[in-house]
Amino acid sequence: MSANNVYVFSENAALARELLNGARTIADAVGSSVVFLAIDGDESAEGMIKYGADTVKVLDVLAGKPLEAYVHAIIDALDENPKAILIGATAHGKPLAGLLSATLSTGCSAEIRGLSMVEGEIQVTRMKYGGAALSTDICTTAPHVITATRMVFEMPAEDASRTGEVLRVQKSSAEACTYQLDGFEEKSSDSVDLTTAKKIICIGRGVKAEKDLEMFRELAEMIGAELGCTAPVAKDNGWFGVERYIGLSGKTVKPQLYFIVGSSGQIQHMAGVSGSKIVLSVNHDPVAPVFNQSDYSVVANLYDFMPAFIAELKGIL
Ligand SMILES: Cc1cc2nc3c(=O)[nH]c(=O)nc-3n(C[C@H](O)[C@H](O)[C@H](O)COP(=O)(O)OP(=O)(O)OC[C@H]3O[C@@H](n4cnc5c(N)ncnc54)[C@H](O)[C@@H]3O)c2cc1C
Repeated sequence: MSANNVYVFSENAALARELLNGARTIADAVGSSVVFLAIDGDESAEGMIKYGADTVKVLDVLAGKPLEAYVHAIIDALDENPKAILIGATAHGKPLAGLLSATLSTGCSAEIRGLSMVEGEIQVTRMKYGGAALSTDICTTAPHVITATRMVFEMPAEDASRTGEVLRVQKSSAEACTYQLDGFEEKSSDSVDLTTAKKIICIGRGVKAEKDLEMFRELAEMIGAELGCTAPVAKDNGWFGVERYIGLSGKTVKPQLYFIVGSSGQIQHMAGVSGSKIVLSVNHDPVAPVFNQSDYSVVANLYDFMPAFIAELKGIL
């Protein structure tokens, strides 16, 4: 096993495959291998070789263990001079990445937007100042811990001809972790994944009553879109679960169409939308900041515009 290996861990299989793509960029540039770290019982583990892993290490000791144990198991599974550890920026992965970098006394680049290699060094882009700027950072620590959400890296094509080895790591200091998890209680929420949605209708605070969501649901059904919202619509109004709010502290999305209605388009919201192909906005305030980032802007009262727009579409579709 060579030095400078690049490690990938995520409990989300689709995200893990995309991270393998990022890991390959690093490993190919420094002539090392990509190692996928899997939890025992992960049925997708072996299949990761087809998506770019050279080795799969199955960490056998983690069943029923808390997050702290994952840190020890991952560190124990690292080979000599690891180059980077890519972790899925999920609810589980984000604290794991922080714990890993603190335990290893190394750098952590959280929720990167892009990655490239410059003269053997990892270069990442990240949002700064609440989404107002993009910074480019050279990662000088090793192993550098990096987290990314879905769609930062492209999904690699499946290559059935790839071969690699699967190793089981049966002993680890994770066993010494002094407490056990009794079990998980599933959170009741809808299982929408806005990060992969092709069309999103975003509802802002300009929508006055929950019953008014009906017209947006109708439109979403007509055009095959998902409903999303701004933070206050989820957190203050409680009309949607937090998995549907978009922005700096919410989801990062990359749809073909982002249709945003009744939102001022503050920077913390628009930070999560910058990868959208077409942004169409409706606001009755002609100087609303949302218009600065829109491809198509409609200055109108949404209560006049939306019913007319839906009626017009019905005539076409
Ligand atoms: C650290 C931090 C992180 C944050 N993270 C996020 C985040 O991840 N996501 C997020 O969304 N926000 C986030 N916020 C909050 C963000 O700054 C804004 O407060 C929020 O996005 C505003 O939501 P809004 O656009 O729905 O509401 P508002 O800013 O109140 O805008 C409502 C808009 O509706 C328009 N309007 C009103 N009535 C009508 C009508 N009848 N017809 C047409 N238009 C109408 C108004 O002109 C106005 O522009 C964050 C803030 C901080 C400080």
